[in-house]
Amino acid sequence: MEKNGYPILDINLENIYMNAETIVQLCENNGITVSGVIKGAAGNIKVAEQMLKAGCRQIASSRVEQLAEAKKHLHCETLLLRLPMESEIVEVVKYADISLNSELDTVWLIEKACEEQGRKHKVIIMIDLGDLREGYIDPEEAIEAAVFIEQNMKHVELAGVGTNLGCYGSVKPTVQNLGLLTEIAEEIEKRINRKLEFISGGATTTLPLVLSGTIPKKINNLRIGEGILNNMDLPLLWNINIPGMNQDTFILKAQIIEIKNKPSHPIGELFVDAFGNKPHYEDYGIRKRALLAIGAQDFVMHDKLVPLESGINVVGSSSDHLIVDVTECEREYRVGDLISFKMFYAPMLFLNSSIYVTKRLVSNEII
Ligand SMILES: *Cc1c(COP(=O)(O)O)cnc(C)c1O
Repeated sequence: MEKNGYPILDINLENIYMNAETIVQLCENNGITVSGVIKGAAGNIKVAEQMLKAGCRQIASSRVEQLAEAKKHLHCETLLLRLPMESEIVEVVKYADISLNSELDTVWLIEKACEEQGRKHKVIIMIDLGDLREGYIDPEEAIEAAVFIEQNMKHVELAGVGTNLGCYGSVKPTVQNLGLLTEIAEEIEKRINRKLEFISGGATTTLPLVLSGTIPKKINNLRIGEGILNNMDLPLLWNINIPGMNQDTFILKAQIIEIKNKPSHPIGELFVDAFGNKPHYEDYGIRKRALLAIGAQDFVMHDKLVPLESGINVVGSSSDHLIVDVTECEREYRVGDLISFKMFYAPMLFLNSSIYVTKRLVSNEII
């Protein structure tokens, strides 16, 4: 059954374009190119197209499947963000022009696959500056790996160095840790006697350093997803507003299937909820609650959904239901009405991937 009803995720391509353009401009003014990251939009080709139109130099994703789609429909350079699996090397070489790497064994497999396919492939060596996900933690080892690739591989081109911060260890990009990345880059350049194409200084969380003009001069690339697609983290968590950015990009619309006044504290002997948790329930007395036809299966984290209308509070969810408190709303909600939400990164990612959610492209004119 083809999905075309509610819940609907409205995707505003114009606003995504404007966000991408604003960030590309900001970065370009600081000598930085932007790779547009599409994984948060489940690789949506229309979204990728807007990023390219706005001046992103590559389309990037952690998933090679999404890069394959991008290659099929768009004329663009592609960047694989997750270190390649051994089992996907053939596809990596076929669909990604560039990949991030931290294992020479893997890069050798890429070299062999390139030879078989008659292709070239660029690698960016990842440096772990303390966030403890991917990358060489020992700078000297990273430098030696880079020099080794330069001197021993014919089809793989050493394209640069990069880092990722914030995603696991929640480490902030700083002038200090990114300074170390640029020092490593300089050392490699000295040893190979040429400039590197990419000194890739991270993702959305590096943008504050660009905005403040303190980012080390040598950083010349960022890989931006959330900041373009969603623009929630910088304004709401970092308290940083980039002029010209907007959040009306992905809007969820879910339909009310029940609306009743109910106690806010469950009645009876409490045990575990649908997912085996023992939540704490506050007693606010009788409240007007709307039950919506969408659930954790679609957005996973209800507490990262942000209702657009003020006065609505997200109460909780189970697999297929979302409960919101509408007691304080001006509007008199009825069964069949819609409630709209913007969202943080996690629900955006999950909603875009859910086959039970209709994705609808909208433009500013019809809203
Ligand atoms: C996801 C990812 C990005 C993009 O991160 P955002 O926070 O969405 O900007 C950049 N680099 C790597 C390696 C990633 O995995």
